[in-house]
Amino acid sequence: MEEVTIRENIKAVETVITAECQKAGRDPKEVTLIAVSKTKPVEMLQEAYAYGCRDFGENKVQELLDKYEAMPKDIRWHMIGHLQRNKVKYIVDKVYLIHSVDSLRLAEEISKEAIKKNVRSNILVEVNVADEETKFGTTCTEAKQLVQDIAKLPNICVKGLMTIAPFVEDAEKNRPIFSKLKKLAVDIMGENIDNITMENLSMGMTGDYAVAVSEGATCVRVGTGIFGVRQYVP
Ligand SMILES: *Cc1c(COP(=O)(O)O)cnc(C)c1O
Repeated sequence: MEEVTIRENIKAVETVITAECQKAGRDPKEVTLIAVSKTKPVEMLQEAYAYGCRDFGENKVQELLDKYEAMPKDIRWHMIGHLQRNKVKYIVDKVYLIHSVDSLRLAEEISKEAIKKNVRSNILVEVNVADEETKFGTTCTEAKQLVQDIAKLPNICVKGLMTIAPFVEDAEKNRPIFSKLKKLAVDIMGENIDNITMENLSMGMTGDYAVAVSEGATCVRVGTGIFGVRQYVP
């Protein structure tokens, strides 16, 4: 079998993103491809970096820190996994965007640590649109209130919403999930809450990012489609 390289994978994903944007009348520049590099060795991240990738997503604090040290400093690191409050202090001044804020308690901790480090932390509110029991995230009903509460905290800024759609064989099944997140963002924007924007919609993974882009995603988080399947070592 022919070896498919990381750069070819990224190119293929970019081609799909561009095609979906054209169909939807969107500018492809509106969409950031986040290379989800969790569990993958630094050599593979370096290959993606050499191609031009500057946005990387990780879901574990220690792994993010290790890769932060090993990789060039112009990378935008995205924390996409569930974040424990006691670990906020390690990453608050190192990440570009935290996608997974789903409680006021977590937001308060981020605010507190951001003040200490004299930074402003940009975050997304994670919404469990599909209401899956196994997933983190606030509900659609509670999202607006959560955004309002976080908006009052210093040194933290809500920049949009994130969702993890269910794993499905047919990506079209997730279309209503993505359109619901988009609609929720528009609703929240209509509230004219101070100090927030809803400009970022982080939605879509390897299996369904094309559908997410056609529904308005501005960040897609692609792991397997770039780096290949993950092997979890116990
Ligand atoms: C792992 C992960 C991804 C990437 O998943 P793939 O299916 O490999 O593209 C995206 N988002 C989150 C939150 C993840 O944890």
